[in-house]
Amino acid sequence: KTPRSRRGSLTDLPQSLSSQIERLEELFTVSGEKLKEITNHFVSELEKGLREENSTIPMNATWCMEFPDGNETGTFLALDMGGTNLRVCEVTLTKEKGEFDIIQSKYRMPEELKTGTADELWGYVADCLQQFIEYHHGQEQTEQLPLGFTFSYPATQEYIDHGILQRWTKGFDIDGVEGKDVVPPFEAALKERGVPIKLTALVNDTTGTMIASAYTDPLMRIGCIFGTGCNAAYMENCGSIPKLAHMNLDPDLPMAINCEYGAFDSEHKVLPRTPYDIIIDKESPRPDQQAFEKMIAGLYLGEIFRLVLLDLHQKPECGIFKGQDVSKLKKAYSLDSGFLAAIEEDPFENLSETQDLFQNTLSIACTKPELELIRRLAELIGTRAARLSACGVAAICKKKGWTTCHVGADGSVFNKYPHFKVRGAEALKEILDWPEDKGKGKGDPVELFPAEDGSGVGAALIAALTLKRVDVGQN
Ligand code: BGC
Ligand code: MG
Repeated sequence: KTPRSRRGSLTDLPQSLSSQIERLEELFTVSGEKLKEITNHFVSELEKGLREENSTIPMNATWCMEFPDGNETGTFLALDMGGTNLRVCEVTLTKEKGEFDIIQSKYRMPEELKTGTADELWGYVADCLQQFIEYHHGQEQTEQLPLGFTFSYPATQEYIDHGILQRWTKGFDIDGVEGKDVVPPFEAALKERGVPIKLTALVNDTTGTMIASAYTDPLMRIGCIFGTGCNAAYMENCGSIPKLAHMNLDPDLPMAINCEYGAFDSEHKVLPRTPYDIIIDKESPRPDQQAFEKMIAGLYLGEIFRLVLLDLHQKPECGIFKGQDVSKLKKAYSLDSGFLAAIEEDPFENLSETQDLFQNTLSIACTKPELELIRRLAELIGTRAARLSACGVAAICKKKGWTTCHVGADGSVFNKYPHFKVRGAEALKEILDWPEDKGKGKGDPVELFPAEDGSGVGAALIAALTLKRVDVGQN
């Protein structure tokens, strides 16, 4: 918790604001005790997902069945269909152990595409791939290039080169894709355009992150994304996945599990939801889904913040931004997590950046006490996100009995949000009962590292491992 002295140093808050801050602190603060309770429930939900189909946390088998040893070679395409960008890479895994070369192009992912039709989506993706190949290989490329496609949504996979979309997440809402295999329409769009690509592996960003990180660090056990969405993957052994028992796989074979734990607690048993979290869920294109993700992921942090401010403005006993035009603040999803990050980065002494930000983005002039409340609110939302995030990582470690391991992490929140790492490390310490000198983020028993490029190098590696397995299988 931020010491009160720091807060008092700027100005003495009027009673109405300080009592609002106290209310918000109560709503958004998650104690160590509560984190433990959440983590324990999380562990049982992970186990349930491995046992049963259609459980809250899907625990999807990915058919990525080994870690790289660093000696993989070859050239592969990788496609990353993210929320803001579409990235195409050509990755060459070189003979030098653990090394690679990469060329890449980024294309904008038009906002309309996310709520358009399936044909528009696959057509656009295929157009980008076509452009990339024509640019780098010319028209004469005819030999099929192997592709690792990072498709960062929950998918049921019976084979590594197929996947049935379980549901859209992260605000995507394209009709006619859920419940179907995404690969045939994707390949049809390529074929229509004569693009010489063979999809070798459909990959989740978390699995890619784990594999890419393990390429250079053999202690890596988990791959996590803290970005627009949140999720993790880890390596299970087939014998611990009861729902695959009918396949008679060797119980000692490894199997990467894409947890899809953004869906955790979608039946609302343990997470301390605030009235604002409930609004976010209700107004989203998929209510009652991704409960955990909606409290912690980058797509939602700015929106939670906006909803609180609007509520405080409308509360007669508080009434911040009195007499001001708040029409811009009324626009849903107008503030992103970068906005919150900028507020948290502003030196507390005068909060002038925050003042400018509100003036320039929202046309709101803030008083000093309002600025102070805004800053505290950003801290509360950012801290809650980091602390709750730690529960997912801690749950995997507890489930596997890992007391020490390396975790590869990626995503805009992890990489850019101030204090996220340290707050998360402190929470891990509280959950996992580490000694007082741990929980600083460096040298901790469970330590998070910025990951290698999962959806580029990771997807390419998984394609390489897949082709190797097929080769071995056929000989
Ligand atoms: C998706 C996951 C993905 C995560 C991070 C979630 O919304 O369901 O598949 O790994 O976001 O990108
Ligand atoms: Mg991504």
